[in-house]
Amino acid sequence: MTTTLIRNAAVVVTMDQARREIEGGGLYIRDGWIEQVGPTDELPTEADTVVDLRGHVVAPGLVNTHHHLYQTLTRAVPGAQDAGLFDWLKTLYPIWARMTPEHVRVSTQVGLAELARSGCTTTSDHLYLFPNGSRLDDQIEAARSVGMRFHAARGSMSLGESSGGLPPDSVVESEDAILIDTQRVIEAFHDPEPGAMIRVVVAPCSPFSVTTDLMRSSAELARTFGVTMHTHLAETIDEEDFCVETFGLRPLDYAESVGWMGDDVWFAHAVWIDDEGVQRMASTRTGLAHCPSSNMRLSSGVAPVRQYRDAGVRIGLGVDGSASNDGSHMLGEARQAMLLARLAAAPGPTRPAGTAMPAREALEMATLGGASVLGRTDIGSLAPGKAADFFAVSLDRLEYAGALHDPVAALVLCAPVTVDETWVDGVPVIRGGRLVAVDTDELIARHNRLAAGILRDV
Ligand code: ZN
Repeated sequence: MTTTLIRNAAVVVTMDQARREIEGGGLYIRDGWIEQVGPTDELPTEADTVVDLRGHVVAPGLVNTHHHLYQTLTRAVPGAQDAGLFDWLKTLYPIWARMTPEHVRVSTQVGLAELARSGCTTTSDHLYLFPNGSRLDDQIEAARSVGMRFHAARGSMSLGESSGGLPPDSVVESEDAILIDTQRVIEAFHDPEPGAMIRVVVAPCSPFSVTTDLMRSSAELARTFGVTMHTHLAETIDEEDFCVETFGLRPLDYAESVGWMGDDVWFAHAVWIDDEGVQRMASTRTGLAHCPSSNMRLSSGVAPVRQYRDAGVRIGLGVDGSASNDGSHMLGEARQAMLLARLAAAPGPTRPAGTAMPAREALEMATLGGASVLGRTDIGSLAPGKAADFFAVSLDRLEYAGALHDPVAALVLCAPVTVDETWVDGVPVIRGGRLVAVDTDELIARHNRLAAGILRDV
């Protein structure tokens, strides 16, 4: 049995039901679980480990609900820098087809390190192509080596170019192989218990890369094993045109027709959803990963976030893959979500101004919102009985000079910073701004060698 005392924080942001922000606060942790939260003088005075976070803001670990970690190998690729989704994908598919298990492992570590340094403690990842013997196992091993809480989405593509899909035939798998391997990884790795470090998600890639049959059989498989389901949906107008031409249905209607709505489902993007669709997402408890940077980077559109929030839709944030962001900064993503929502609320020639999104609401989407989207009640807030996942930022820094009257809002309003502490399950992943378990310099050098290798002809 181990205990940890975090004490004297300038402020602890709890995101508990009362949304308390406790000045001079701390946490008392036992075996990875929060036992007490409160002012330091009301907490025990001793523990196996005592960490004084004087001058720091402490907040619940951020939850990233959509990523493609392997894409850290292909950031800022010439030819894909200014394209929209379909051309961007067609440029990148042949490069991604060269990945090996080593590329998957190293890029996963790089993306997770970057996320952890931005305050993220839990991430989902959507890996949907498995070239040259790559397996989901490679990612899960990498996540364990860094110490992040990880929802590994076993993605898939089965609709190649010759059958009317977007990806080249060389990167799609047979549907039998996809279903067999997905069941294998659920049985090998999925932990349904509270406090789970690894969960598996069933995740066919998108309407334009997967057949209707695979969408249906994936949903059946997921529901047989009680795991969650994830896919890209309604990301661009091109996708909507594809769905109408191919299925005679708009994306949300298509998803519903193949069994893909419900409290065990979350979509990435959901940009092109009308008011009726927003209500249907709310009434079915279907969740979504809002990815503002990626939506801006690819000129995909602006998701109706105010409408989702007002309707009570489960909504979290996603940095999305690093080929369309091109970073994995969760505090940065919260800031982007706030700014884009404010731009969407600006008055136009035919509409009045909407309500601006406060910084604290963006932070709530990045914590409680993300936890809800991933189907978890054990993370997302700092309260007794929750997992001890948190990050801390020193306020003594250039970025916050002049903002100390509201350090919580500063986390989102000021320039995104690299955090000083990130703890997952009561264990430090980042201490003093540095990754604990992996040598970052060596990792960066290895990752750059691998990236140069698969980009050799570009
Ligand atoms: Zn994506």
